[in-house]
Amino acid sequence: MKKVVKFGGSSLASAEQFEKVGKIIRADKARCYVVPSAPGKRNSKDTKVTDMLYNTYALAESDDAFDKELDAIKARYQEIIDGLKLKLSLDKEFEVIRENFKKKAGSDYAASRGEFLNGIIMANYLGYEFIDAAEVIFFDEDGNFMPDHTNEVLSARLADTPKAVVPGFYGAKLDGSVKTFSRGGSDITGSIVAKAAHVDVYENWTDVSGFLIADPRIIDNPKGIDTITYRELRELSYMGATVLHEDAIFPVRKEGIPINIRNTNAPKDNGTWIVESTCQKPKYVITGIAGKKGFCSINIEKDLMNSEIGFGRKVLQAFEENEISFEHVPSGIDTMTVFVHQSEFMEKEQRVLAAIHKLAHPDSIDLESDLALIAVVGRGMRQMRGTAGRIFSALAHANVNVKMIDQGSSELNIIIGVKNEDFDAAIRAIYNIFVEIQL
Ligand code: ASP
Repeated sequence: MKKVVKFGGSSLASAEQFEKVGKIIRADKARCYVVPSAPGKRNSKDTKVTDMLYNTYALAESDDAFDKELDAIKARYQEIIDGLKLKLSLDKEFEVIRENFKKKAGSDYAASRGEFLNGIIMANYLGYEFIDAAEVIFFDEDGNFMPDHTNEVLSARLADTPKAVVPGFYGAKLDGSVKTFSRGGSDITGSIVAKAAHVDVYENWTDVSGFLIADPRIIDNPKGIDTITYRELRELSYMGATVLHEDAIFPVRKEGIPINIRNTNAPKDNGTWIVESTCQKPKYVITGIAGKKGFCSINIEKDLMNSEIGFGRKVLQAFEENEISFEHVPSGIDTMTVFVHQSEFMEKEQRVLAAIHKLAHPDSIDLESDLALIAVVGRGMRQMRGTAGRIFSALAHANVNVKMIDQGSSELNIIIGVKNEDFDAAIRAIYNIFVEIQL
């Protein structure tokens, strides 16, 4: 049995957190590959080292003095080294970083040093080998991740290295320059290492005990999700459930390697298992609820629209020409509605409307703003009759007016559009009916 263990920034923010992590790793021999993030916040007022690095580099880039800021970053690491009583000095590394900042090595290089330095400390603390991610994770010249080349090089390297630390978040282009993933990208590194090392489980350790059925800012103490499929997770993450980076599932998904989200501060909790598919019946009909505010709908009417071939394409072309992606397109006999992100749409509004008029010649167009979309997701919905009925009667009881309904052909989710102001009430009503009352 082999496992990759990835630890997030809050799990590695201080020497005490490092000690918890050390205990977790030593408790299971299978935990042979470790992917650390940069030190995160020690408390709510603290700053993540990654943000400190971006800010410090911005000073270097505009030729301002940055010594004080870089020294503050060094102090964060020194505190960890001293707290763990390690015989390790990062003086040389910091001299190289200082020089490279002066040479304007780029903000990706700057940000990547957070994980790089934490990786050196982690390897020293555990007695594992340190593998610089820049030597094994590759991007092409346009900055796109190169999965095949990476897998080839990384697999070969790990085959010779039974225990290693590979820092998260970055790799390098073929010319050697450092490139990072998007923020939170250490999750992706964990997945890449899991695939290359052919491990049995990818454990992703963070500061919560996995995914919750609903947002705890809306529902008090929501229940956790024990098992979720990759597809369900995609739906929920897209709608704002953020525990894991969206792209982290792709490398392991094809390999059938499950991801287990765990809590460094509560290591006995089972957390959430993310799997390809499962026979396990979910506890509730729904697996999770997530949503986002800030959409608007463009409602287009035209008599006999239904029989006009190409009408939908012409309408959507107006959005494409203005580089706006649409979320949902429910339609009726003589009406078609397009849901878009309000912030993206607003500045281009009149141009889009003019384009729809020009291309599709509708009878009228009417806009509605401040809408929210809610996704009710669950693999269990397919086998159950009446799920939609229950959702809508719960919403009616909560006095929530439903503006839009969209059920994907996968029957994995039902999307509901409501006014922004009804968002919390709608989520509460749906949670209640499926989880609290279990009607
Ligand atoms: N340290 C990086 C960030 O703050 C990457 C990560 O933690 O995954 O985004």
